[in-house]
Amino acid sequence: MLRNKRVATVAFLIGLSQLPVIWLFTQSSKLGGIQYATGNILGIAGAVFMWWQFLLGIRFISRFITRDYVAILKLHKFLGKYGVLLALIHPFWQVYNYSDWKLLLLPKLTTEFYSNVLFGQGAFVLLSLIWILSALFRSKIRFRPWLYIHYLVYPAMAMVFLHSRAIGTFLNTIPGMELYWNFLLLTFCVVVIYRIANLFNLGRAIYRLNRKETKSDGITIYTFMPVRGRIQSKIGQFAYIRPRFFAEAHPFTVMKYDRERGNLTFGIKAVGPFTNQLEKLTVGDKVYLDGPYGVFTTEGQSNAPKVVFAGGIGITPFVELIKRFGGKRTIMFYANKVLENAIFREEFKQELQTNYIDAISQEKVKDKLIIEGRITQEVIKKFVPQDYLDHANFFLCGPPPFMAAIQIALVSLGVSKEKIYSEEFGL
Ligand SMILES: Cc1cc2nc3c(=O)[nH]c(=O)nc-3n(C[C@H](O)[C@H](O)[C@H](O)COP(=O)(O)OP(=O)(O)OC[C@H]3O[C@@H](n4cnc5c(N)ncnc54)[C@H](O)[C@@H]3O)c2cc1C
Repeated sequence: MLRNKRVATVAFLIGLSQLPVIWLFTQSSKLGGIQYATGNILGIAGAVFMWWQFLLGIRFISRFITRDYVAILKLHKFLGKYGVLLALIHPFWQVYNYSDWKLLLLPKLTTEFYSNVLFGQGAFVLLSLIWILSALFRSKIRFRPWLYIHYLVYPAMAMVFLHSRAIGTFLNTIPGMELYWNFLLLTFCVVVIYRIANLFNLGRAIYRLNRKETKSDGITIYTFMPVRGRIQSKIGQFAYIRPRFFAEAHPFTVMKYDRERGNLTFGIKAVGPFTNQLEKLTVGDKVYLDGPYGVFTTEGQSNAPKVVFAGGIGITPFVELIKRFGGKRTIMFYANKVLENAIFREEFKQELQTNYIDAISQEKVKDKLIIEGRITQEVIKKFVPQDYLDHANFFLCGPPPFMAAIQIALVSLGVSKEKIYSEEFGL
């Protein structure tokens, strides 16, 4: 079920945008019958889904719909998996109609029509590659190769438009459809221009590193002060950091936002090339930020009962939450390998007292509020009263196996899935 009403509205609009395409079935006679028309309609429907998928994959656009970037990305992925499939069925249907299987991949430049089929063939090859890698093998390939292949969607979309505009019978003979297609094409072009400008940091705020503090376990606390533009982050939201004028941008939770000065503080664990590169930043260096995104802790920003589970660096969305909305009705579990890694532990203990529980997996520590080992169903039952299990909101952030284990334990204890909110540190 879609939790976010705005995302549900977008899903509804996506359905609505297919109505003119479905209406085309009534015009089948223009293409010599339902069999021929279906081939074209599949292509058009697939292209409409792709257009939505393309738009929703762009943060600048999805930000206007909702800050719930994760929900938007889910819709984006869903469209990618199932919507694009229609566009991929289209060429198979067409070559069956034309009884010429070679037309699927082999160029034939004998007439202008076949030259324009070439754009379709190009789009088919690129989209097939993207679809196979994203829908079938995403978990098997590393993030960067997948990301760079994903960018092929830009030339693929351009080819889809060139192909459909040149030889799409419906699009060239029904004035309403022509107008509809021109609108999709125009928005696509505007977005591409924006994306190019965005490469040059248009639309990003500029900050300067103000303070850098090294903690244990490869964690560094970075505080940035605004130079141009400001990101007004709410508790638990995240922003994308780009450490140089031309560089990748990765998402990180804003751990603290200083309203007066506009400073943003992040707690970042070095785990790979990007985060290692961030460690090389020195005070005074410029970075480019965009955001804020996310709605992860929205339901926790009150004094209603809540239970928080943080694993390692997954603590960052909760630092400000506990400070502002901690109190007697908040229970917090913080899992780490060794106690030293539990950053801000003293602050949490002071705020939550006996409602703060450490879970330490690789060190022996004698304390009745420190669990040795993992947070199990029994541990949760021991510290979380039944009325919390029935009514409180639960927030989970940490490594994927940690979140999966807690989720299973909570559901086994009767917690409603609707009351469990989680944030994954990988999109
Ligand atoms: C909403 C959100 C909030 C986050 N908050 C924090 C935080 O507060 N502190 C912290 O230390 N880490 C946070 N992360 C994780 C952080 O973004 C990754 O650890 C970092 O991008 C890894 O990059 P790398 O090159 O150092 O490591 P790699 O080993 O190259 O990447 C590790 C994994 O990070 C993810 N990743 C890489 N690049 C991107 C990207 N451009 N966009 C999205 N995911 C990517 C992929 O899942 C990848 O497999 C957050 C992630 C998300 C999605």
